[in-house]
Amino acid sequence: MDYRNQRGIDLHVHSTASDGTLTPAQILELAQAQHLGAVAITDHDTIDGSKEALQVGIPSSIHFLTGVELSAAPPPFLRRSGSFHILGYGLRLDDDELNQTLLVLQNARENRNPAIIERLSRLGFDMTLAEVVEMVGESQIGRPHIARAMLKKGYVHSIDEAFDRFLGTGKPAYVDKYRISCQRALDIIRGAGGIPILAHPYLLSVKVPAELEKLVVSLKKIGLEGIEALYPEHPPQATAFYEELADRHHLLITGGTDFHGSLKPEIQLGIGTGDFHVPFELYERLNDRLARHAARA
Ligand code: AMP
Ligand code: FE
Ligand code: FE
Ligand code: ZN
Repeated sequence: MDYRNQRGIDLHVHSTASDGTLTPAQILELAQAQHLGAVAITDHDTIDGSKEALQVGIPSSIHFLTGVELSAAPPPFLRRSGSFHILGYGLRLDDDELNQTLLVLQNARENRNPAIIERLSRLGFDMTLAEVVEMVGESQIGRPHIARAMLKKGYVHSIDEAFDRFLGTGKPAYVDKYRISCQRALDIIRGAGGIPILAHPYLLSVKVPAELEKLVVSLKKIGLEGIEALYPEHPPQATAFYEELADRHHLLITGGTDFHGSLKPEIQLGIGTGDFHVPFELYERLNDRLARHAARA
């Protein structure tokens, strides 16, 4: 797909409500400065970023979608999944089930952090959770924040090094995270009036096309409505395959940069490493689908 003449959009953005470094207000300001046509804030396991964006007010030149990114457990037939994330768009932010489930996920994160710090101190690092909290303020703490604290204390030379040597999956300070099932992730997003999309399929450990197709088909049966085909780290052939898959199975396609501010400095809002572009039309199709859902409800 190439619609470079259309305004760009960014449907995958992290704010200070999770592990991004810009506040929702700063994200909206930046989106406006870059003339983006539409933006969604998709924080990990929280809708506080979307709530805050609506509270500060959406600039009239920008179409805004509420969002979330859930880390889910893959279907049982996938033994290793890689990053299995489900994005949700157009959620009613006051939905009870959604808010309650997010609270459970946030509590699980809160219980996990002391375990990570405990492992780090057993490895000889003199660090407390209080220090990490002080660094990042009130927001939901995760491994990126712990990595930033390690960097600040001079224990590592980069965030990447902290993940590669200590915090990444299978590394000595790694602690697994509680995940909801993919069925539940899809259900709570749809229950809140939203549209569930499979995030960044290239980051899954499923590399064989037929296997990815099997996964997508099985997820569609239980409520998946689209694929994030456009993502800065997707090679062109992969993007083409995801578009083909979406076409074949009547799924929406979406795209976004996974902007995290200075946590991932190489990725810029809307344009990724520079020439990434998501056409406005994809926002319109997503929004049409939301309107149809709302009409049926
Ligand atoms: P957590 O939510 O605590 O499991 O941490 C996962 C988050 O860490 C992801 O959403 C990424 O934003 C971030 N992350 C994972 N690997 C890296 C890395 N090598 N460098 C920077 N950030 C990373
Ligand atoms: Fe993140
Ligand atoms: Fe993700
Ligand atoms: Zn993300």
